[in-house]
Amino acid sequence: MSGIYEVVIIGSGPAGHPARLYSHRANMKPLLFVGNQPGGQLTITTEVENYPGFREAILGPDLMERMRDQAARFGTEFVTAAVDRVDLSKRPFTSWAEDRAYHSMALIIAAGASARLLGLESETKHMGFGVSACATCDGFFFRDKRVIVVGGGDTAMEDAIFLTRFSPDVTVVHRRDALRASKIMQERAFKNPRIRFIWDSEVVEILGNDDKRVRGVTLRNVKTRALTEHAIDGVFVAIGHKPNTDFLRGQLPMDERGYLKIEPGTARTPIPGVFASGDVADPSYRQAVTAAGSGCMAAMDAERWLEHEKHHGAPHPSPDQDATILKEPTQSTSVEPA
Ligand SMILES: Cc1cc2nc3c(=O)[nH]c(=O)nc-3n(C[C@H](O)[C@H](O)[C@H](O)COP(=O)(O)OP(=O)(O)OC[C@H]3O[C@@H](n4cnc5c(N)ncnc54)[C@H](O)[C@@H]3O)c2cc1C
Repeated sequence: MSGIYEVVIIGSGPAGHPARLYSHRANMKPLLFVGNQPGGQLTITTEVENYPGFREAILGPDLMERMRDQAARFGTEFVTAAVDRVDLSKRPFTSWAEDRAYHSMALIIAAGASARLLGLESETKHMGFGVSACATCDGFFFRDKRVIVVGGGDTAMEDAIFLTRFSPDVTVVHRRDALRASKIMQERAFKNPRIRFIWDSEVVEILGNDDKRVRGVTLRNVKTRALTEHAIDGVFVAIGHKPNTDFLRGQLPMDERGYLKIEPGTARTPIPGVFASGDVADPSYRQAVTAAGSGCMAAMDAERWLEHEKHHGAPHPSPDQDATILKEPTQSTSVEPA
């Protein structure tokens, strides 16, 4: 069989680019699928202050452009499309995008996760200017400011408690009259004097100033339908995350929320030769730096596995880097979306 890559990487976020960089530097010449969100989640935020190596804050899209350019310097190939299905039942593995098949001996899945959002136009408009889906990332910017946290589960309680490190005035807005969070998280939140609750309410609009900065929200009481306006500086949407694993259903073991299962301390999934890195396999940390580190781990695990297979594995077709199956093979860094 011709046209088999040694490694295919699915995803171009903070996990995918380091996986690509390390793969290339191990001489594996990977193919990278960029997917529908070039650069991943950081492209929807503004300032990133917690990624190592930058004395000043760097804008999320700029950071991702740098990661892309650093990896692309080595001339790796990419396909802009998203993978819509895979066959991991036999090797080489096959990934399909827009009805074309791409074969690889090893596969690194770095497809990330998507924060669930409210779906309001005003939410998109003010994202990164007072609206955030990541308290760990952005809480620091809200010192002594008034914030609301939208949600009623464990994530919302964790975020609300975390935000009280900075803000004296954290309001949890929840659609129901009781929380979904675990008992222990509820107790912690209820005991915290900096947290108050607005029940039976949903955000219908986020209000901003001319400079896009958030100045308040309009809430609707779901029982009375009454609308009220509240002056606040920040909105944290904490209604959960969805790992981007729909295209892998039935192919790889996942937990009940859809996160890929990996062997602790490695990037190995239960299928030999298939590795996962970043948010797609991380319900716990979900940070750019942890995603980047695990992208490195995935590439190193893939390289070691391929090497082991070469000497001890069943005979298989040899990888062919002059693949004829590429959709948009390009060595050009100028056209690759970040
Ligand atoms: C608003 C916001 C602000 C944040 N701020 C910070 C911060 O300040 N600091 C910090 O450390 N972290 C921050 N984070 C978290 C950080 O963005 C994530 O932890 C990180 O992006 C995860 O990287 P990833 O590569 O695993 O996944 P993602 O960034 O989600 O990237 C996934 C990639 O996979 C691709 N993809 C998905 N499905 C497919 C498919 N089927 N085929 C091909 N490609 C596919 C997408 O196009 C995308 O390129 C923030 C997150 C959000 C939402």
